[in-house]
Amino acid sequence: MADSNEIRLAGLAEQASVCTACDLSATRTKVVFGEGNPEAPLVFVGEGPGQHEDATGRPFVGRAGALLDECLNENGMTRKHVYICNIVKCRACIVEAGRIQNRAPRYDEVEACSRWLVPQLSIIKPLIVVCLGSPSANALIHKNFRIMQERGQWFDTSPYCRYITAALHPAFILRQEGPSYDAYRRLLVDDIASARRKVIEAKKEPPKTLFEL
Ligand code: URA
Repeated sequence: MADSNEIRLAGLAEQASVCTACDLSATRTKVVFGEGNPEAPLVFVGEGPGQHEDATGRPFVGRAGALLDECLNENGMTRKHVYICNIVKCRACIVEAGRIQNRAPRYDEVEACSRWLVPQLSIIKPLIVVCLGSPSANALIHKNFRIMQERGQWFDTSPYCRYITAALHPAFILRQEGPSYDAYRRLLVDDIASARRKVIEAKKEPPKTLFEL
């Protein structure tokens, strides 16, 4: 019998835990491979680990993760229903004024880390992927993705899933104040609701790509 997704993902995570394919390996504490339901039809792909993720080895455990959890809960879901990972598995950071700050991963780092993301998605075979933020959408949907204009739109062009979309990154929402915060938070809740409905619709469709067979 073929190994379960859980076993295959654990094997891949084990290999990724000692990856030195890019410079991020020199400064990371832990590789943040991803977690959640290995059979999930719905996968969220963020940008990359921050300070708390780097320290714990778990994705979205800081303030942005708490907001993501709230938005999932408002849609009747928890992390047990979905799978969560990032386009890069190690924290990208710079030292500025003596402090370690997160930075966006570079193209070459995203490229190098696709050696983990592509097989990860190929094992899970989700129906739906939601990219959180523009770096993830740039990597997985198309270059120069305009997150404000294109979030919430559905694309059927991904080799990794039946339908893919992007939503605002929770960390971006946390940087807003007052009515902007409320409005952007609402968009994330609504985009997750739309993804949930898309899972239900896609389950009724026949398989469309070789990837799903
Ligand atoms: N932001 C991300 O994009 N990913 C995480 O895992 C945490 C914060």
